[in-house]
Amino acid sequence: MTRVVIVGDGPAGLSAALFLAKNDVDTVVFGQDETAMHHAHLYNYLGIEDLGGTEFQQIARRQVEALGADLRDAEVTGITRTEGEGFIVTTTEDDRVTADHVILAGGKAAQSLAASLGAEKDGGHVPVDTENRTEVEGLYAVGRVARPERSQAIISAGAGAVAALDILSKAAGKDVHDWDTPPED
Ligand SMILES: Cc1cc2nc3c(=O)[nH]c(=O)nc-3n(C[C@H](O)[C@H](O)[C@H](O)COP(=O)(O)OP(=O)(O)OC[C@H]3O[C@@H](n4cnc5c(N)ncnc54)[C@H](O)[C@@H]3O)c2cc1C
Repeated sequence: MTRVVIVGDGPAGLSAALFLAKNDVDTVVFGQDETAMHHAHLYNYLGIEDLGGTEFQQIARRQVEALGADLRDAEVTGITRTEGEGFIVTTTEDDRVTADHVILAGGKAAQSLAASLGAEKDGGHVPVDTENRTEVEGLYAVGRVARPERSQAIISAGAGAVAALDILSKAAGKDVHDWDTPPED
């Protein structure tokens, strides 16, 4: 079974987790609920008229956990890419998790992890393509870490969804849309 590790639990990471867990991918999210969203109040997120950032995060965390994502309260301290095991992710809480894909969603703080994998260029820039793939095979960067100059919750959440759909599409060998229709009455 494909396993994805997501580094960061803000809108970018949790949005990626939602799409992956909803489609039965083994999804582990590392973070300590220290997102900048706790300082934000949303009036610019389409479909949400007025909502505190903390409440947004509470809903998002509940939503992804209910879908089966494994949210772990730890800081990722190291990521290595191996030939045999894929990625090996280690944390402050002594986790050692292997993964087929890693999604960096840790905001600016994740730039050093990107650098350690060779995915960071020119002092902080983490280049990504339209699917949010970095130059390192299997490694994605989404949200603020990839686009610090466009740091809005809806943009981060959208980028997380893009990366997750790319992983799902690769695994399925065709484009995955994750479309749902209204429940029958
Ligand atoms: C005062 C203020 C007001 C704002 N107001 C708005 C607003 O009105 N509307 C709006 O759209 N946006 C607003 N924003 C911006 C919004 O908060 C960001 O766009 C959004 O949080 C970015 O989401 P992200 O998921 O990319 O990164 P982040 O929210 O930064 O999340 C990254 C998470 O990853 C964690 N992390 C980092 N490194 C690691 C690691 N090694 N291991 C594990 N976890 C790690 C961090 O602790 C953090 O929890 C505001 C920001 C601030 C500061």
